[in-house]
Amino acid sequence: MFGRFNKDKTQGLESLANAPVGAPVVVENIRGVVRGSLVMQEAGDIWIEHQIENQEGRRFWVSIENFDRTEATLWEDIEVFDIQGGPSDNRVTYKGQSFKREEAGSAAFTAKGDVDMFESGSVDYVDFSSESGDRLGFERFGAEGAHRRSRAITGNCPNCGAPISVDTMGRCTSCSSEVMADHGWWGSWEVAYGRNVTDSARLQ
Ligand SMILES: [Zn+2]
Repeated sequence: MFGRFNKDKTQGLESLANAPVGAPVVVENIRGVVRGSLVMQEAGDIWIEHQIENQEGRRFWVSIENFDRTEATLWEDIEVFDIQGGPSDNRVTYKGQSFKREEAGSAAFTAKGDVDMFESGSVDYVDFSSESGDRLGFERFGAEGAHRRSRAITGNCPNCGAPISVDTMGRCTSCSSEVMADHGWWGSWEVAYGRNVTDSARLQ
């Protein structure tokens, strides 16, 4: 029975990976909708990054990748200057946790839906992981200086501390402060903190 359970979970992640824009999904008991997706390809490997919007309008990324098994990771944007070290180092530190460089490469991406991204292009990436399995992912999209990218921040409002709920103007519904994260320039490194949500991510 356990083996069958695992197989079902993997099939659930494959369904999630193939989910079209607009599909209802659930991640860690949070219900949301796929607003857009990036399909990444490198040397025959394909992985998916979905941008998911929850019922409060908060957006976050979930990637589905094939390692020894299929894994889903929930990504939270963090600031490059909060990390000791960078994408060219063998080890970096974030909030006291050490991360080891795992792999790096350059993939081609195709964008679908609403992800504030060109339709296609290239992305350089460097992946780090900690002993506990948390991840830090550096990504550098496209050619330098094309334009800036931004999106709603995740977590709690940096001004009033309320859980992020975004109005149509991109402002906190509690205190009306701006809660769009400036996501950096095309062609500069961005970084996100990832945690494994393999067991809790699926189509609704
Ligand atoms: Zn606020």
